Amino acid sequence: MSLKLEAETGFQAAFGYPATGVWSAPGRANLIGEHTDYNLGFVLPFGIDRRTYAAISLRADKICRVASTIDTQIYQLDLAGQKPTGLDWALYPLGIAWMMREHGQQGFDCFITSDVPVGAGLSSSAALECSVAFGLNELWQAGLERVELARIGQRAENEVVGAPTGIMDQTASLMAQSDSAVLIDCRDLTTTNVKLGLSEKNLVVAVIDTGVAHRHSDGGYRSRRDACELGAKTLGVSSLRELDISDLPRAKVELDDLTFRRVRHVITENQRVLDTVSALALSNLDSLGELMAQSHASMRDDFEISIDELDLAVATAIESGAIGSRMTGGGFGGAAIAIINQDELFTLEKKCKLAFAAKGYKEPRIFAVKPSQGARKES
Ligand code: ADP
Ligand code: MG
Repeated sequence: MSLKLEAETGFQAAFGYPATGVWSAPGRANLIGEHTDYNLGFVLPFGIDRRTYAAISLRADKICRVASTIDTQIYQLDLAGQKPTGLDWALYPLGIAWMMREHGQQGFDCFITSDVPVGAGLSSSAALECSVAFGLNELWQAGLERVELARIGQRAENEVVGAPTGIMDQTASLMAQSDSAVLIDCRDLTTTNVKLGLSEKNLVVAVIDTGVAHRHSDGGYRSRRDACELGAKTLGVSSLRELDISDLPRAKVELDDLTFRRVRHVITENQRVLDTVSALALSNLDSLGELMAQSHASMRDDFEISIDELDLAVATAIESGAIGSRMTGGGFGGAAIAIINQDELFTLEKKCKLAFAAKGYKEPRIFAVKPSQGARKES
């Protein structure tokens, strides 16, 4: 059964009447540019061919109800009542409704299905937020642009769920185009489509999901944000985006060693995103691979957000013939990506499973993802 049909069937079973429509949004993988979004820098993610589907109908009253295949309990919010709290996963979709409430004359029922792996660094959270936001935008005739919906998604995640994440995930899930990555300038949210052209080179993006679940609401992510803020403040700028490589010598003198390394990651990573866009324009795969390697090393050594499983995945991917590999997403678990010839995918899978078993780690899941279109109505 297709996920769209599953969403419609699930809706009917949960609420006892048919859904008006189904809207979907993809998870995302980030090609390069990690922890740069909340520093108002550059990121280069793409939508993946794993999506979250929201079947929705409006109601006559102000009640909003949501259910999902991963938890059939129905959670609800009264749009005329208080800001939602303590509703588990339902805080994501109901947080969206809350943030859009000025447009909501009516409540709604919503049923969620998805094949985006949860907590794997592929942003199942943004896929969920954006599928619901996109659907409500249409049903409520709110007339919001995709960038505005991305902001609403981020605010729901920050202010309702309480995860201090940046704007990358939602922007990617809403703005992505097939066979392309999207360059996002997180200072003004301008986006540029960057053709990847992988399939004509017989290349695929492999995801190596370590199965180690990350949690953004835990301290690691927050403490990285704090270090970046401290670095910017000490160096007298409003955000690290105002700095570039030429500021590193001064930063080394003025910052303590830990803050300096956090800042160096962000400054060099911004440059690597721009260099990656140039490398792609020139089809320079060697340069792309080198930039991904540098990005991973910077996250491991300077920003300290990698874990041994991710380092092992990246090393094994390169041994298996990948042209580039790095951890993707916020870190502390989740997945790595590798750009690899389609024919080597099986070797990569075999080698990774062996390498993980040899270290006594949980068996990783390896699958290819295709750069895919952003949020859309399913007809
Ligand atoms: P990631 O975005 O990397 O997958 P997050 O921790 O940011 O990880 O988001 C995962 C959370 O999003 C889940 O724990 C759950 O609360 C919610 N979520 C994601 N997908 C679904 C879904 N299909 N149904 C219900 N909740 C979901
Ligand atoms: Mg997330």
